[in-house]
Amino acid sequence: MCIFCMIANHEIPSSVVYEDDTVIAILDLSQVTKGHTLVMPKEHYETLIDVPSQLAMHMMEVVQIVAKRLTTNLHAKGFNVLNNGGELAGQTVMHAHIHIIPRYEENDGFDVQFHTTEKPKDLAAVLSEING
Ligand code: 5GP
Ligand code: ZN
Repeated sequence: MCIFCMIANHEIPSSVVYEDDTVIAILDLSQVTKGHTLVMPKEHYETLIDVPSQLAMHMMEVVQIVAKRLTTNLHAKGFNVLNNGGELAGQTVMHAHIHIIPRYEENDGFDVQFHTTEKPKDLAAVLSEING
């Protein structure tokens, strides 16, 4: 069975930061930075786009609640919100979840870089491809 389903059902222990009927937020075991938290639906959906929209919106409310708490109580100077959607994008646990990574300083263990090696030049063409 999915490890996050087991956590959401309290079948295996976790450090619960927030919980209600439909969403749970737990400390990530890896603690990329202090307070690194995962927000997930209790019900199993593989990626964020599989989550029903009302529930996805509620996940974002919980992200905001938890990010405020982490920022205030852990004195983080900022935070990153990250979702890895699909294996290619780095998703390792196939139960949708959003990472909240509190940030303390530039070299605190987390880094995001945008590489634009093959940048499409014709944005109008990209737009029409997206919108059909
Ligand atoms: P992903 O790579 O799928 O976006 O993130 C999965 C995250 O789940 C990883 O950061 C990993 O540390 C965390 N993780 C994996 N197994 C467990 C577990 O059993 N408990 C907790 N709290 N975190 C886990
Ligand atoms: Zn699951």
